[in-house]
Amino acid sequence: MTDYSEIYKKQRAFFRTNKTKDIDFRIKALEDLKASVQKNEKQLIDSLKADLNKSEFDAYSTEIGFVLKEISFILSNLRSWAKPEKVKTPITHIGSTSYIYSEPYGVALIIAPWNYPFQLSISPLIGAIAAGNCAIIKPSEFTPKTSEVVAQLIKDTFPEEFVTVALGGIETSQALLKEKSDYIFFTGSVPVGKIIMEAASKNLTPITLELGGKSPGIVHKDANLKLAAKRVAWGKFTNAGQTCIAPDYLYLHKDSRDEFLTYFKESIQELYGENSLKNENYTRIVSENHFKRLSSFLSNGETLVGGKVDTERLLIEPTLLTNITWEDPVMQDEIFGPILPILEYSQLSEVIEGIHNHPKPLALYIFSESEKIQQEVLNSVSFGGGCINDTIYHIANPYLPFGGVGPSGTGAYHGKGSFDTFSHKKSVLKQTTAFDIPLRYPNVKNGLKKI
Ligand code: NAD
Repeated sequence: MTDYSEIYKKQRAFFRTNKTKDIDFRIKALEDLKASVQKNEKQLIDSLKADLNKSEFDAYSTEIGFVLKEISFILSNLRSWAKPEKVKTPITHIGSTSYIYSEPYGVALIIAPWNYPFQLSISPLIGAIAAGNCAIIKPSEFTPKTSEVVAQLIKDTFPEEFVTVALGGIETSQALLKEKSDYIFFTGSVPVGKIIMEAASKNLTPITLELGGKSPGIVHKDANLKLAAKRVAWGKFTNAGQTCIAPDYLYLHKDSRDEFLTYFKESIQELYGENSLKNENYTRIVSENHFKRLSSFLSNGETLVGGKVDTERLLIEPTLLTNITWEDPVMQDEIFGPILPILEYSQLSEVIEGIHNHPKPLALYIFSESEKIQQEVLNSVSFGGGCINDTIYHIANPYLPFGGVGPSGTGAYHGKGSFDTFSHKKSVLKQTTAFDIPLRYPNVKNGLKKI
């Protein structure tokens, strides 16, 4: 097992020079990062194609462009976010003023998954740098080409005592977790999230956990069915369903089920053509083991659409399964692939009950034209974040902090959320020395006796 204590020592020493706290240093670092990402665009597109068969469009819109936008947004706000925030002080504290200082934690460890291997390594880094931290990134071992480009890009941009990349798999992750980080930002699965939380607890290290789970989509009978079909198909099958906030399964109202499914089939064809397995822009499943796990679900219920696979190229068609119950294997865990099981309902209460019986999801999507139905779902179900009449889009709004709740995650990031996540909020009261109000002290003449 590699020993990472040296790099932690170097980063901690660099952090203590206070250089990373300087606002001009942070801005320059973010500008340098932006320039490096732009310079490495082609390498990134090629590596994402090699690792996951991502199309150039997806590679740019969901990874490279996403990261560039995030840097620009943070750059245009950072100076004002980083200022100490003056807050009110009660009259009882007359003579004093109160401030909240945003201070960096120190050395931040960022552990990333494989599904958006570039975006999910670099987006947290943007927050870490903006807040003035040093950082060590551990990208995924399942996307080796992209992880290598990330490592090279970071090496060419920053000295290792400021930001560095540790390449490797579980062992690397575990070796890093043995060191004392000042912050841990983890994106990945629920079971590994528990391991991270346990490791963090040894030093009481603050953490963010961006996890997964089964995120429901609900299409009510009064929804704009055609648009709902298109938006669900896009959100589910982008990246071949390997998206943490993809709708995992769909609740369809029985009265509009057939009409919705007709539109849904059309939408899949519109997005991927007659034969998605022949579509060069269709993302593949990341590994043979993941492919095998997903293929085993294809025998659940009845296949209404898709179901075919290409074992050589690790492709699975966009697939719709009907006649599914909560007891089927496909409903036991997050699917994380292009397979969409359908559940039917008559009353909204059945949907709410079904979701309540399972861990709080990372995302939820409700399609309905009725404000009352929308609000009923929002008020009844707890979930990380989501959309009304859309899927996934909330993740791309930098004004919306992104994260889960309980089993789907702890903490949130993006935009100011990222700056806040990587900043400790230090509350400071500054007292006057011009006078001293005696009310707080006991009456010394009478000792501590009641007067
Ligand atoms: P994963 O949990 O298997 O791996 C994530 C990272 O943890 C990798 O870098 C891996 O090397 C490391 N790791 C794996 N096992 C470990 C262990 N035992 N000890 C220490 N480190 C370990 O997740 P994954 O398969 O890469 O990604 C898919 C999961 O991530 C899905 O559950 C998905 O929902 C979730 N995800 C969540 C978000 C989000 O923003 N909430 C985004 C993307 C993916």
